[in-house]
Amino acid sequence: MDFKISELEREPIDFDLELAPGAVDLGEEAAQKGPLAASGHVEVLHEHRGPRDIVADIRLKGRFDGKFQVPCARCVEPVEIPLQADFDLIFRPAAADADPTERSITAPETEIGYYQEDSLVLEDVLREQVLLSLPVRTLCKPDCKGLCPRCGADRNSQPCSCDAGPSDPRWEALAGLRSRIESK
Ligand SMILES: [Zn+2]
Ligand SMILES: [Zn+2]
Repeated sequence: MDFKISELEREPIDFDLELAPGAVDLGEEAAQKGPLAASGHVEVLHEHRGPRDIVADIRLKGRFDGKFQVPCARCVEPVEIPLQADFDLIFRPAAADADPTERSITAPETEIGYYQEDSLVLEDVLREQVLLSLPVRTLCKPDCKGLCPRCGADRNSQPCSCDAGPSDPRWEALAGLRSRIESK
């Protein structure tokens, strides 16, 4: 869905929709499962930089709610997680800040994004917001045993024989070190 600046100049737009899986491309990090609900309010904010220099910013305030699939940090099995977040964002025309010395009069705590040409694409905004709200590390279960670092077997489903370990004491010292590292 595109929000065109010419339409927003006439009146603000309220939206409430469901995006089908695949509508928002999340790359390798996550996959959308089921519909992604997104709703919000979009309007133009005029930034007066000078008597004849008015920049048309777009303010997008909204939220999303959906289910996503991410790989377990230990065993890489897909894990389904619900995610929802509210956002309140300002987008400036990409051309408006072409001069890096230009000082912005917008409040410094407001995060500024940019829109290209004459419209803001909702799917692009959602992609960024979903990726930002992904947990840093997801486990399929708190005690996931992960993959064996030696043979690659998923130790949740098939105990491999690597754990038996060699009997040489020097190797056992190393194995002890390895388990201390892993348990951190
Ligand atoms: Zn796991
Ligand atoms: Zn193994």
